[in-house]
Amino acid sequence: MARCEQCGAELPVKTWFTRYCTKCGAKVPGDRASGAYNTYEDMPLPSELRGLTAEERAERAGVKLGFSDRFDTEEFQEAMGKANRTYGLVMVGVALLLAPLVTLIAGLIKPQNTAILLGAGVIVEIIVVIVVICFVIKRLTSKQWDGEVVAQDTRVARSRSGVRSTTYITTCMTSDGKRRKHKETNQPALYNYLEVGDEVRYHPKLHCPLEKYDKTHDTELVCPFCGLTQPIENDYCGGCGKPMLK
Ligand SMILES: [Zn+2]
Ligand SMILES: [Zn+2]
Repeated sequence: MARCEQCGAELPVKTWFTRYCTKCGAKVPGDRASGAYNTYEDMPLPSELRGLTAEERAERAGVKLGFSDRFDTEEFQEAMGKANRTYGLVMVGVALLLAPLVTLIAGLIKPQNTAILLGAGVIVEIIVVIVVICFVIKRLTSKQWDGEVVAQDTRVARSRSGVRSTTYITTCMTSDGKRRKHKETNQPALYNYLEVGDEVRYHPKLHCPLEKYDKTHDTELVCPFCGLTQPIENDYCGGCGKPMLK
């Protein structure tokens, strides 16, 4: 088995979800193995973990009761800043490209009405820019809060073309009595990881913003940056290489 050049940890076979060392976040060298496992659940449990209870695994992985101290570390804050800058750039890119693209596609379908097309393009652009500004303002101004998960629901929607989408809604009651909903479409990882009654902290600048207070009965964590479910032993996400909140 290969070892990490940076920290010496044993490296798994490289797949799309094991692209980074889960002990230090360094890139796993080489090419992805074809026909390997699809998720962590498919991989056999390492022999040293077999037969352990969830509590024993959490303890062995260094998980303590309470919200993670790691959030305030320079490393974590830096990773969060970088992820948000990338997110902002992607949003701006989408905002700038979408309207000309819509105009172009509409123009290819109905090339005769130039004035209407340009008008439609400008309207789409204005709407997209407003939506992006709202998103950015929401991320920058939302405050951290602590609360409890009070309900979990799913909504299934079917578009006209028959594409089904599921929205996973986790409702929390904040410590000052406000109801807050967290919604994810077609991404059940955080929804499945949380349960009604869990104490949580909301981190507005994270992609997966809800952190569980008591992780000592878990064998899994959800990456706060990309939303991939990780074995609790992972200090860094195997899929995106960023630090886990544990
Ligand atoms: Zn490493
Ligand atoms: Zn990740």
